[in-house]
Amino acid sequence: MCDISSKLVIVSGPSGAGKDTIVGGLLEIDDSFSLSVSATTRPPRLTEKNGENYYFLTVKEFEDKIAQDGFIEYAKYGSNYYGTLKCDVEKRIQNGKTVILVIDVQGAAEIKKLYPGVLSLFIMPPSRDVLERRLRKRMTDSEADISKRMCIAKKEIAKSCEYDYTVVNDDLDKAVSQVYNIIKKEIK
Ligand code: 5GP
Repeated sequence: MCDISSKLVIVSGPSGAGKDTIVGGLLEIDDSFSLSVSATTRPPRLTEKNGENYYFLTVKEFEDKIAQDGFIEYAKYGSNYYGTLKCDVEKRIQNGKTVILVIDVQGAAEIKKLYPGVLSLFIMPPSRDVLERRLRKRMTDSEADISKRMCIAKKEIAKSCEYDYTVVNDDLDKAVSQVYNIIKKEIK
């Protein structure tokens, strides 16, 4: 693949920090942004659609894609695979878009190894309590899944110093505008 780092933006942060909502806000205000749709082996949540939120694959389909070198990066988060599809990102870049990757800290580290100049942002919840409350409010995950996600969140927050910018999401509009201004400043 050609050097695409100048057109990629990584957004990470614990599950429940509000990454997807913030990115949704960005897409509404600027159509030069495009969200990469990842593949996952996690089952879809009630409101999720195949090809829109994720490409929902079986483990066999995902592993076949790994063997075909179909991912820019992939990682295991909890017990499921998640991966950034080469073809999806390439298509969006060819269409002239700045491509946003909403990925976990392992995937972000892989992308940074491949493309050292890539812009990276970490979305931080205002506190652990707020994060847990947001995960519960989502009412989509089991109690065991929430505990697992809280445990992963702790490890992810410890890696936030490896990102170019950290944005605290205590006020959604403010966080969207901060992220927007950072991307506009850094990506020409
Ligand atoms: P969720 O199950 O809440 O949709 O996602 C769980 C975690 O996987 C989140 O931190 C999300 O950003 C991350 N994730 C989503 N897509 C990808 C991907 O393509 N690669 C990696 N490494 N992580 C991803």
